[in-house]
Amino acid sequence: MSRVYNFSAGPAALPETVLKQAQEEMLDWRGSGMSVMEMSHRGKAFLSIAERAEADLRELMAIPDRYKVLFLQGGATAQFAMVPMNLLRGKDLADYINTGAWSKKAIAEAKRYCRVHRVADTSEEGFTRAPAQEELSLSPGAAYVHYTPNETIHGVEFPYVPETGAVPLVADMSSSILSRPLDVTRYGLIYAGAQKNVGPAGLTLVIVREDLMGKPMAGTPTLFDYEVQAKAGSMYNTPPTYAWYLAGLVFQWLKGLGGLSAVGEINARKAQALYAAIDGSDFYHNPVEPGSRSRMNVPFTLADPALDPVFLAEAADAGLVTLKGHRSVGGMRASIYNAMPEEGVQALIQFMAEFERRHG
Ligand SMILES: *Cc1c(COP(=O)(O)O)cnc(C)c1O
Repeated sequence: MSRVYNFSAGPAALPETVLKQAQEEMLDWRGSGMSVMEMSHRGKAFLSIAERAEADLRELMAIPDRYKVLFLQGGATAQFAMVPMNLLRGKDLADYINTGAWSKKAIAEAKRYCRVHRVADTSEEGFTRAPAQEELSLSPGAAYVHYTPNETIHGVEFPYVPETGAVPLVADMSSSILSRPLDVTRYGLIYAGAQKNVGPAGLTLVIVREDLMGKPMAGTPTLFDYEVQAKAGSMYNTPPTYAWYLAGLVFQWLKGLGGLSAVGEINARKAQALYAAIDGSDFYHNPVEPGSRSRMNVPFTLADPALDPVFLAEAADAGLVTLKGHRSVGGMRASIYNAMPEEGVQALIQFMAEFERRHG
């Protein structure tokens, strides 16, 4: 068996130790005689898995009791609709910061439910930076302010948490959750599709302040009502049990590494090394303003785009895969989530230097 360094943006690499543990427990989960996939979600065994996962996530992120943690389906994309459905609470206006492809999708969906005010928009600059706090023209009457702390496609990350006063802040953390410590109390709601930094696809995490629930707009499907899901322990219907279990294994792995401050330091080192390699060469280029560069997704272009396919093919031969950039941005993208070891980033840096020597 040989495993590659997988730089996929999502679904993304998972920690090898987690996959091995899942493999060991595949046929017989701790003497139950069955796989987690075969268990009733209402049985004692799965409930213990579910509770443990939530407790570990609460510990890792220091989530206060007044926030509910939901394990849902539908991806971040379902949240693009569920957020306005649940958080408008009688209002007709929401503020959105537009910093890239994912913000744009969230805005388009929200417009089906309310008026959207773009409090800042970097589209005309090609989505190459996060706007500063002073640039945010917040509306006093907005039900909430939505932003994307890390734009997975453009490789833009906010270096700060927007200050929104009494208006709840909502964050799509699909590609940055658990990548570094954060202060949950700054947010009204955090959501994240699991397949980047948490676990397999099919699971969506929602962390929501209790007082924001309970006033869904008329017509909201029962399943999409946060309060219904909170009261049902995310089991109003059958939850994504296996993805929930695997996410739990990832949470334990993160605790074993020393929690989010330790993980954040590793991630900072990985990103710093890769950006230094890009900036130190005339052959590679990253278009993002240095203060807004993502620690998780690093897009870069080659001086000669005609070499793109050669780069991808030779990288794959060296065991470095899924480096092709998003079609809307072009070039390359290295996603270096928690599960990408430092050795993987070093191997990429070394390959890039060699490639430049041969083709630059
Ligand atoms: C991947 C991604 C999404 C889409 O997630 P799905 O789970 O496919 O719906 C949304 N927002 C961000 C920031 C992402 O990285």
